[in-house]
Amino acid sequence: MSELWQRALDELRERVSADMYEAWLRPLRCSALDEQGLAIEVPNRFYQDWLTSNYLQPILEAIERRAGWRPRRVTWIVNEALQAEMEAPAEPPASVPPRRSTPAPSRSVTSLNPKYCFETFVVGPSNQLAHAASLAAASDPGRRFNPLFIYGGVGLGKSHLVNAVGHRILRDLPHARVLYVSAERFTNEFIAALQNHRIAEFRQRYRVECDVLLMDDIQFLAGREQTQEEFFHTFNALHHHDRQIVVTCDVYPERIPEMQERLVSRFQSGMVADIQPPELDTRVAILHKKAELEGIVLPNDVALFVAQQVKSNVRELEGSLLRLAACADLAGRPLDLELAREALRTTHSVAERATTIDDVQRAVSEYFDVRLADLKSHRRHRSVTYPRMIAMYLCRERVGASLPAIGQSFNGKDHTTVLSAVRKIKGLLDANDPRTRAAVDAIERKLG
Ligand code: ADP
Ligand code: MG
Repeated sequence: MSELWQRALDELRERVSADMYEAWLRPLRCSALDEQGLAIEVPNRFYQDWLTSNYLQPILEAIERRAGWRPRRVTWIVNEALQAEMEAPAEPPASVPPRRSTPAPSRSVTSLNPKYCFETFVVGPSNQLAHAASLAAASDPGRRFNPLFIYGGVGLGKSHLVNAVGHRILRDLPHARVLYVSAERFTNEFIAALQNHRIAEFRQRYRVECDVLLMDDIQFLAGREQTQEEFFHTFNALHHHDRQIVVTCDVYPERIPEMQERLVSRFQSGMVADIQPPELDTRVAILHKKAELEGIVLPNDVALFVAQQVKSNVRELEGSLLRLAACADLAGRPLDLELAREALRTTHSVAERATTIDDVQRAVSEYFDVRLADLKSHRRHRSVTYPRMIAMYLCRERVGASLPAIGQSFNGKDHTTVLSAVRKIKGLLDANDPRTRAAVDAIERKLG
């Protein structure tokens, strides 16, 4: 029995790459093999899934070629000892120079960020879906959510989640070849491969020797025709073999500018999950988590205060916490509310970019749905004069720009024009004109 099994494997060995063999076939044991059935011992249930979809047929065919019959049933036995064996470093025979009997775990090629794992990811309503989908993709790679497309604004945890998928798969399948790569790096490698005539190697790496592809920031491919073409074929090759693909992006697939239609439809063919900016409670929880990881003593009231101040993204939130901790350290004071108030006031004015005349003009033109050019023009139709006055008022009150500077930014208008606009809007606000109040409030909110 064991000879038949070994021969069948040897036959496969010649057909698959050495890495593949070491990773997927060598760890197996056969505990029964006859016409009735084949029992295969595997290190964990992921092997079972993987082998069933990738190698079972070739194994059965190889057996049939040798024995002239095919086992009628296949049973899988999860043998934890095999897992332990796989994780233990191989012991080289004394006389032979050290050499691993199994390939180094693919960690070397993944460059995953060790900090970004599921354990350190805080789940809240804003990221629940993306988190659940990532977890599902990680625990059943290539099956349920393939591809998984995660999108959301900067600093909201997209890279964190894809890295977590990679870590989780490697934990369960230590030999899985997980490739984590930014679209930018993919592009650069592709171009280098073209220049150095190593395209075959490049394709081997991405299309063949890859079990899980984690591609970060796919929006980088916008407008890059040739790289998109290459990625399209990479995608198909992997997907065809049920290899898990996870892609992140800063926008929804259809909104990536200059992206090939067929790629967009590939992205939409699996699971699409978004990440929104975290709610207050989630921000507080993230701060506590981060403090715990960094060994920072963070009182509840300080966490709440910081979470109320910093809303835009998690990276900023973390940055604020670290700055506060550093301030407390330097001042030799505990991290309390008083210190947080002082420190955030100063760092914030620097950290958060001040609103500019440009920002105001843009926000006003969006709010009233008038063209930017019309807003700045000398046109005197009421549909543009009123928005223009509001814009001038906000440039004065909110940006604090001088009257001549404002005039300049509206196609060289006189400062007296600006002054009368500012007065006019002030008057309307003082008189509690509802339309003006609503407009100013909404635009202020837009400006953040
Ligand atoms: P993105 O890739 O979306 O721009 P990142 O994944 O780089 O954002 O996240 C920015 C920072 O915020 C990282 O340090 C990450 O660990 C942290 N972060 C984001 N979301 C969470 C979360 N839900 N829980 C814990 N940390 C988070
Ligand atoms: Mg990122």
